Amino acid sequence: MHVYYCKKCKADSMTPVCDHCGMPITALNQNERFKWRYIRTPLGDTPTLLGALRVMVVTMTVLVTLMFLGEIIFSPNKENAVRMFGYSGILPWALTLLIGGAAAICLVLGLQGREEMHFVVDARGAHLQTWIPPSRLKCLARSIPYEAYNIATDPEGNARMLIGETHLLWADVCRCEIRRHAGRIDLYRPSGFRFMSLYPERQEMEAIENYIMPKMKQLVHR
Ligand SMILES: [Zn+2]
Repeated sequence: MHVYYCKKCKADSMTPVCDHCGMPITALNQNERFKWRYIRTPLGDTPTLLGALRVMVVTMTVLVTLMFLGEIIFSPNKENAVRMFGYSGILPWALTLLIGGAAAICLVLGLQGREEMHFVVDARGAHLQTWIPPSRLKCLARSIPYEAYNIATDPEGNARMLIGETHLLWADVCRCEIRRHAGRIDLYRPSGFRFMSLYPERQEMEAIENYIMPKMKQLVHR
């Protein structure tokens, strides 16, 4: 939603005239902003899934390589190192562990359920609050503490729990990737680390792109 922020009332209005105090909102480039909600299921989120699987594959590769080197360096019989990859079993074992690990990751992500992401994109940066339905099991699956004092009621009267808040200033963004097809804008800080992803509503994607584009040092279109 494209809104204008009245500093005096600390509230948003749809038009540049404040709904609350009736005064015109000035300095529009400072006070216009976008805010929206996005419901995400971690199990259905490709970058999350791929990231978790990549970590597993890398760990497994490092482990197998270390074992191989260990055999070469320390074993009196160097053939053991070669035999390791034969049907003595290390590779099938590594593969089983990999599949088991992938299944465990999917289970944990599935238990995490869905999360509600509240985005605000303003003149200074991008701001995100993440809320989940309060549940001890969901907290356990995310390895976060269950914090009853972070539970609040949403406008529809449902209980929800704040589990995280992230702020990223435009000045700190090293790289921005606009993925139109996936409906996602990835913000990197540093340039190799995806610090935050924005999931704008389809119809607002272009407006948000145009809004943040001039603020970016390095922009990539995908
Ligand atoms: Zn006002």
